[in-house]
Amino acid sequence: MDSELTRMTAAGIAALVAAGEVSAVEVAAAHLDRIEAVDERVHAFLHVAADSALRAARAIDDRRAAGQPLGPLAGVPLALKDVFTTTDMPTTCGSRILEGWRPPYDATVTGRLRRAGIVILGKANMDEFAMGSSTENSAFGPSRNPWDLSRVPGGSSGGSSAAVAAFEAPLAIGTDTGGSIRQPGAVTGIVGVKPTYGGSSRYGVVAFASSLDTPGPLARTVLDAALLHEAMSGHDPCDSTSVDAPVPPVVAAARQADVSGLRIGVVTELNGEGYQPGVITRFTEAVELLESMGAKVTEVSCPHFGYALPAYYLIAPSECSSNLARFDAMRYGLRVGDDGTRSAEEVMSLTRAAGFGAEVKRRIILGTYALSSGYYDAYYGKAQQVRTLITRDFEKAFEQVDVLVSPATPTTAFPIGERADDPMAMYLADLCTIPSNLAGNAAISVPCGLAPEDGLPVGLQVMAPVLADDRMYRVAAAVEAALGQRRGHPLLDEANGLGEARPGQEGRR
Ligand code: GLN
Repeated sequence: MDSELTRMTAAGIAALVAAGEVSAVEVAAAHLDRIEAVDERVHAFLHVAADSALRAARAIDDRRAAGQPLGPLAGVPLALKDVFTTTDMPTTCGSRILEGWRPPYDATVTGRLRRAGIVILGKANMDEFAMGSSTENSAFGPSRNPWDLSRVPGGSSGGSSAAVAAFEAPLAIGTDTGGSIRQPGAVTGIVGVKPTYGGSSRYGVVAFASSLDTPGPLARTVLDAALLHEAMSGHDPCDSTSVDAPVPPVVAAARQADVSGLRIGVVTELNGEGYQPGVITRFTEAVELLESMGAKVTEVSCPHFGYALPAYYLIAPSECSSNLARFDAMRYGLRVGDDGTRSAEEVMSLTRAAGFGAEVKRRIILGTYALSSGYYDAYYGKAQQVRTLITRDFEKAFEQVDVLVSPATPTTAFPIGERADDPMAMYLADLCTIPSNLAGNAAISVPCGLAPEDGLPVGLQVMAPVLADDRMYRVAAAVEAALGQRRGHPLLDEANGLGEARPGQEGRR
C-alpha cells in the first residue's frame, strides 16, 4: 500500500493538515505504511515509534479541531538521527555500547520538534557515534541508498538521507561534523544543510567533536529544509556555544530564489583532479546556470583547503577521545564482565573493548595519541593553527564574493563494501565539506542532476559566511527552480523492486 501523501513536500502536507483536508493521523499512518513496505530493504530506521507517532499526530488533529493555532510544519512526519536524545525512544548512536539506554531527557532539538507539532516517526540509522561516511560503521548494519540498494546512502546521517529519499519521511534531522548531512544529502539526491556552527543546539546531541558538531535538516526541497531549519534553530542557554542571535531568515530566502547580482566564487582547490568526471560535468553546468540567471561568477583560491582533511582527522579524533571517555560501563547501556570478581577498571576495559566498533576505537587511539604530552604541539596544536588559516581563507574569499560553490562530494554514491576496509578512501568522501566545519560557516548541498556515467545524484555545495545561512538558501532555491521540480521524485523504485514505477528521467532529471 502506498499513498500519494508520501510523495508530497512537507510544506504541502502541512497546508493540507492546516486546512483540514487530511488528518495528521492519516499522514503519519501513510508514512508508517511506507516504512513497513520498504524499510526491510532500505534499513533507514533503527527504531520505529508507531504508537507515539500516531499519538503525536492525534494531538495535532485535536488542536486543530479546538481551533488552536498550528505551526508551519504541524502534522509533518520526520526521521530523527539516533544521536539525539529522546525520552520515549532508545538512543543508541549506532553503537552496542548504548544498546538499551533510555535517555532521561529530550535534546533541545527533539523538544523543539515536538512543540512545533512535527511527528517523530522513529530513530534513523547512523555510523557509530557519527564516525563515517556510509553508515557501514553502524553496529546494527548499513542503510541502503534508495537509488541503488547496493550502494551507500552516505553517512554518518545515512539513515536520515535514506528515509527521505525513499519517501519514508518528508523530513529528517542529521548532524554534520565533517559533512555528515551534506554528503548523505548529495549522494541520495536530496537537500542537506549544515547551519552556521552554534545556530542549532547541541544540547542532548551525543557528542562526537564538540567544536564541530552541528545539527541540521534534510528534505526533498529547499523550502522544506528552510522550514525545518527555522523550526529547529535558535539560541539555547543549555548549549554554551549556541549563538545568541536571530535565526537567519532562511524561509524568506528559499522563497526568494533569486541570484541576480550575487557574486559567486568557484573554489579552485575543490574542483579538478581526483573528482569523478560526471560530478564535474554537472557542477560546471550548475555554475553556468547560475551565471545565466544573473550571478557574477569568478574563481577564488582558498590555498589552505588542501590541509583541511588532515587537520580535521587530528582535531575530530582528539575531541572524540575526550568525549567518549564517558562510556565507562557505569553510567550508560552495556556492562561486560561485572560478575563480582573484577575491578571497575577491568569491567570498563572489557565493556569498551566489546561495545565500540573498529572505527571508533581507531579514532580514540588516534586522538589520545595526538593529545599526548610530547606530541600535542606537533599534532593537535598544528592542526588548530591550520584551522585558523582555513578560517582566514574563508574570510578573505567572502570579501570578494557573497557565496562560494563546489561539488558537495568528489564522487557519487559508492558500492557498499568498497571503502569499508580502507579508512583513507572513506575519509576522502568529505573532502569538500570539511572546510566549512573547521571554519564554522554555513553550507548546503542541493541536487544538481545525475552523473552521466552512473545515473546517480550529484550535489552542488553552496557555502555562506557565518550567520548568512539565508544567502545559500537563495542560491540553492534558484538552482532547484531552474532545474525544475523533476527531482521531487528521486526514488528509482522499479529498479530496486521497491514497488513503484521509475519516474521519467528526461534530460538531466
Ligand atoms: N565522515 C566524517 C567522519 O567520519 C564526518 C562525520 C560527521 O560529519 N559526523 O568523521
